[in-house]
Amino acid sequence: MTDAFTELLSEYLDEELSPAERARVERHLQACVSCRDSLEGLRQVIGRAKVLPVDVPPNDLWPGIAARIVGPR
Ligand SMILES: [Zn+2]
Repeated sequence: MTDAFTELLSEYLDEELSPAERARVERHLQACVSCRDSLEGLRQVIGRAKVLPVDVPPNDLWPGIAARIVGPR
């Protein structure tokens, strides 16, 4: 599930939002389970990105993931 706040979550984590936007996102997070899940997922991705060496090519994974999203026809 995504909504209008989903795309703000990564900026929220990066602290790129204005104070007013942060307050809006925080208020929304208290009401919206799917955004709380998304935020938690983003935090884990960011945490992992810091742990992994920079030279791991994540693009190699993409064809397999894309095939799974599209699914069998
Ligand atoms: Zn939401």
